[in-house]
Amino acid sequence: MPELPEVEAVAQSLRPLVEGRKIRCVHVLHPIATKPQAPAKLAHATEGQQIRAVRRKGKYLWLELATGIVTLHFKLDGQLLWFSGAKELFAKANKLKPENGVHVDVAFELDKGVLGFADGRHFGRVLAWDSEPSCPAIAGLGIDAISPGFTTPQFTKLLAASKRPIKEFLLDQSKVAGVGNIYSCESLWHAKLNPRRRANSLTAAESGKLHKAIVSVLARALECCLHPAPDFRDPEWWFQGLEEILRVYDREGKPCRRCGHPVKRSTQGVRATYFCAHCQK
Ligand SMILES: [Zn+2]
Repeated sequence: MPELPEVEAVAQSLRPLVEGRKIRCVHVLHPIATKPQAPAKLAHATEGQQIRAVRRKGKYLWLELATGIVTLHFKLDGQLLWFSGAKELFAKANKLKPENGVHVDVAFELDKGVLGFADGRHFGRVLAWDSEPSCPAIAGLGIDAISPGFTTPQFTKLLAASKRPIKEFLLDQSKVAGVGNIYSCESLWHAKLNPRRRANSLTAAESGKLHKAIVSVLARALECCLHPAPDFRDPEWWFQGLEEILRVYDREGKPCRRCGHPVKRSTQGVRATYFCAHCQK
């Protein structure tokens, strides 16, 4: 599932394409992508409206319309596609022989270009809401991890109020929004903290170190996601080079890049945690 840096890179690449554009009409090619809403609801809520802005908070991305919003939930591997116009969309979308075309679930035909949403596994969703507060997923988010509001004092306060293991605390999007499984493992490794430590057991110095680690891990990943930036014209585009910046994630049994002891894998909640038991205390 894309975490904050991936979604931020998508938002930055999307803005110049759609901001200020008008939605002429909506094509729902696979109605599962708007569930539980009816495709007609999405069309009714968006057609004829101007896209005022592309917004992101945590791992969520949405289009702010003159009235209401449209959320784009990528889930595991949903992605955006760009077509020059409706002609190109229908020439390419969902051909009987998949090798000749691309999968598109929902397409917004704009006054210039077409924005497509695709998720071949159909976990992703495109949904219309009256406002940000009326969308429970957005309303429930905590502080965005790359926003100015994510400060050391604020983070320390949140940690002090939680008895949960720090790894689980970091995955709780209602506290800090945007950090998922990969970047929480990475941040804890950089801060030399054991993922099972209770959030409220961290000293002020440790909280500060973890805050710094999260900020720098996300900044580095965002840099990586923007070079090269997402290219929605290429149906095969995906983020490249992220594995190379990872220090501990998915490295079970391999030597820790700091102390050489083997990286351990354990399960916390339902997620895999990677850490070095020797240098993460
Ligand atoms: Zn180590």
